[in-house]
Amino acid sequence: MQQANQGTQPNFSRQPTAAQQPLTITDKVKSSIRQLITSLPHHPDNPAGHAAYNAQVSQWNAKWGESTRVSHETGYPLKPGTAAIASSECFACGTHGHNGRNCTLPVNHIERLSRKEAAWRAIVSKVLGTFNRATAMPISLVLNQFTQPASAWIEEVVEFSEGKEEGSA
Ligand SMILES: [Zn+2]
Repeated sequence: MQQANQGTQPNFSRQPTAAQQPLTITDKVKSSIRQLITSLPHHPDNPAGHAAYNAQVSQWNAKWGESTRVSHETGYPLKPGTAAIASSECFACGTHGHNGRNCTLPVNHIERLSRKEAAWRAIVSKVLGTFNRATAMPISLVLNQFTQPASAWIEEVVEFSEGKEEGSA
């Protein structure tokens, strides 16, 4: 089921002991994270962007090994088309308007972010705060069988899909 990242929830005990080690937030950690964000640009949701993203993941795997746990020293590539990092996004699916605990995306859904990316997003938001929230393009979770309740975020959504209507300006 869902992984509880926040708080202390000892009722989830499937992970090895090294899980979620408390991270001491120092300036060094912050600058390390900022550098990683810069070195792992978030590519656009188009064929070139996906190719670049796949290359980032391959490079990550080559450098760190696929089973390596994501940390403030490894960073992780961001999936194209998802919300900007540290923008109050849901770490489970990379969209806005809810969080991982009430994400409606089924656990095994293909649109779910990888566990590694979710971990990286959680680390960044925790250490640096949601510094991209004000500037991030709002991304809402759009799935055919799920209807998201309207929220302030959704009103501002820039639609990528067809039917590009002119606003009422
Ligand atoms: Zn979600």
